[in-house]
Amino acid sequence: MQVLKFGGTSVASAENIRKSLAIVAQAVAQGPVVMVVSALGGTTDALIGAGRAAAAADAGYRDALAQLHERHRTAAQELLAGAAQHEKLAAIAAQFGEIQTLCDGIFALGELSPRTLDRLMSYGELLSSRLIAAAAKAQGLAAGWADARQLIRTNSRFGAAEVDLATTTRQVADLKDSTARQVWVVPGFIAADAHGTTTTLGRGGSDYTAALLAAALDAEKLEIWTDVSGMMTADPRLVRSARPIPRISYQEAMELSHFGAKVLYPPTIQPVMQRGIPLWIKNTFASTDAGTLVEVAPPRTAAVVQGISSIGSLTLLNLEGSGMVGIPGFSMRLFAALARERINVVLITQSSSEHSICVGVAAHDTDPAQVAVDEEFATEIAAGRIEPLRPEPDLAIVALVGENMKDHPGISGKLFGALGQNGVNIRAIAQGASEKNISTVIRAADVRKAINVLHEAFFEATYKLVNLFILGPGNVGGKLLGQLAQQQAHLLENLGLRVRVVAIASSRHCLVDEQGLDLTAWPEALAAAPAQSLEEFTQLIIGHNLRNSIFVDVTANPDAARCYAPLLAKSVAVVACNKVAASSDYASYARLKSLSKEFNASFLFETNVGAGLPVIGTLNDLTRSGDVVRRMEAVLSGTLNFVFNNYDGTRLFADVVRQAQAEGYTEPDPRLDLSGSDVARKILILAREAGEVMEMSDIEIDTFLPPACLEGDVEAFYTQLAAHESHFRALYEAAAVTGTRLKFVARYADGAAAVGLQTIPPGHDLYDLRGKDNVVLFFTDRYVEQPLVVKGAGAGAEVTASGVFADIVRAARL
Ligand code: ADP
Ligand code: ASP
Ligand code: MG
Repeated sequence: MQVLKFGGTSVASAENIRKSLAIVAQAVAQGPVVMVVSALGGTTDALIGAGRAAAAADAGYRDALAQLHERHRTAAQELLAGAAQHEKLAAIAAQFGEIQTLCDGIFALGELSPRTLDRLMSYGELLSSRLIAAAAKAQGLAAGWADARQLIRTNSRFGAAEVDLATTTRQVADLKDSTARQVWVVPGFIAADAHGTTTTLGRGGSDYTAALLAAALDAEKLEIWTDVSGMMTADPRLVRSARPIPRISYQEAMELSHFGAKVLYPPTIQPVMQRGIPLWIKNTFASTDAGTLVEVAPPRTAAVVQGISSIGSLTLLNLEGSGMVGIPGFSMRLFAALARERINVVLITQSSSEHSICVGVAAHDTDPAQVAVDEEFATEIAAGRIEPLRPEPDLAIVALVGENMKDHPGISGKLFGALGQNGVNIRAIAQGASEKNISTVIRAADVRKAINVLHEAFFEATYKLVNLFILGPGNVGGKLLGQLAQQQAHLLENLGLRVRVVAIASSRHCLVDEQGLDLTAWPEALAAAPAQSLEEFTQLIIGHNLRNSIFVDVTANPDAARCYAPLLAKSVAVVACNKVAASSDYASYARLKSLSKEFNASFLFETNVGAGLPVIGTLNDLTRSGDVVRRMEAVLSGTLNFVFNNYDGTRLFADVVRQAQAEGYTEPDPRLDLSGSDVARKILILAREAGEVMEMSDIEIDTFLPPACLEGDVEAFYTQLAAHESHFRALYEAAAVTGTRLKFVARYADGAAAVGLQTIPPGHDLYDLRGKDNVVLFFTDRYVEQPLVVKGAGAGAEVTASGVFADIVRAARL
């Protein structure tokens, strides 16, 4: 005997039923088959919906039933012909007549009892199994229909009845003896109590029917045919890269299903495990796929964690109080109180202080549990020895399952590390001594992220997915997106990073795709996308709640910095080319730094100084390794360097500045560069990174611009520059006669910083600077006479973008 069970999707339509029957026809070659079937996919839900509508005096149930009737008629018409079809349509009509009468009764009474609901739901499997038995016959199989209500005996707990194994085994034996048939088609899910009243085994219970029959028949094997190619490493609806587990032990499969892997109804394993009947999970729609074999002792593989599953809608109940310490019996009373209300305890933890016991229950049990427990401990609560029960709702369990975990240290560490890095707070943990399962309780809203993070950590060691949210696809941002597009393959191959740009926002548009934007076609798509405020964009990032998220600010927008703190507090890394945050008031800068530490999220802004040059990184390396920065001298404005390198009096100073702007070296507002304030911001940032508590107002700015140049708008600025040509010419000539060069220099020493124009003699470290170069000289305890020098192109969209890119990679690899 073989038992083959076909789920709702596998029998959802005539076409699918044919596929299922083809599988049965093949199996028949190896011996007789018991074919257990679910209702046509969606039928149980539709019946429940109709029953509830009727109970709520909503006459809409009639239409719902008519639709369901039509679906069954269509399937019958497609599967059967002639007299068989005629007969089947009449039978279906009669059954729908009964369903209609039942619902009319519910409507009249305004009440739907669990007993009536079971009766109503049972029609789903009754209809499907009879139809499929007829179709099997029509295909030439020697098929018969057997009523599960005469095979499976349960108690009278309607909705989730408990099976009487002895009676069931006895009743099923008859089926075994009637060997006249090749195929017995049996409705799953339904059973009957001792009075012959219809009961059901709980939602998804057809799997259990099949396992009960397999055990009672001592079948050679049980096959669960469904719509996925086996039991997978995680719920494929949550984790796109989940893959089938080829072989798994009964114990592991049981844990996974108990903790939410819907592919198997949890009680299914027990009956077949007891008899060592091999259980296969296979895909009706890819019948040659290997599927999963569940068995006693699968060969040991390298896989330590076999799968990850989750249960949503959990509430934690925390029983707490000084009156519990060292006094036996509290746990017993707690569990007894819950058991009396038939409340299932999903998870238990107790700290060794015995000050509290924490149990997890299904959300719908919260209120009855609270009442039961508070009643049980009423005396202690009144005496102040125990606190009233505090339920904590909206939680979920995520569990790692694998028998090999017990032999491998470090699994929990990896689990906590991976979740912590992504800002997933763990509310409770439970791990049995058998170590088949490590369960964590987290916010329900974090489940998708957590499972993906863990799947990546335990099953995809080969790469890490990084989610980018880019603000400012302008000059630098555009180049950055180009570089990202170009380097995707390189990052994956060499660094194991799969970089996905989830959103791009400009001041006027915001383009989002959780699966990752197409980096070759974004400009057109962005232009057509709607607008979002900075606050909305921040909320969008937080709302997506994706693992390894990085916010990249490639703007010069002063308001953008306001997004950083809320993002860091959600463990979203921040990479900024925008200097506003790091150069704003010290308290804000320090707060961002401490949020970054507290929530384990990078806050990186290397390009704030010297564009792509490793200036801040070098400084950080020095101080981290214990060196002390005593003095810094630097030329930090690519713009000013370009201007003074190119200005020799033959062209207007204003024109050289215009050229610098046209070539993309200046800030969007060139006055920031020319006034020296941009340089001041940079030395401020360097001083802070060197450990100085400093404000912008502490920096002495010696501007070489005549005050009139800073009045009015950018155009007025250029006009004023031209009007003051003689001033700039005089500066140039004074330097030229002495053989020196003009450099706008920033200095920091002994806690003070200043910026200003200086004449630099040949041979000086700052003298020989080409084009838009920057240079920083670090004098430290280790670099005393000869400074450590960082020098190179310090402006330009391409180099700045590559600096931002490097920060992204740094943040991603944390
Ligand atoms: P059937 O109707 O065939 O009984 P179910 O819908 O009950 O099918 O179960 C199959 C579904 O279970 C899959 O389509 C999948 O979405 C879901 N599922 C959840 N977790 C897992 C897992 N770990 N492995 C496979 N499927 C899973
Ligand atoms: N039809 C029932 C349900 O939807 C049983 C099953 O499909 O396993 O829950
Ligand atoms: Mg199922």
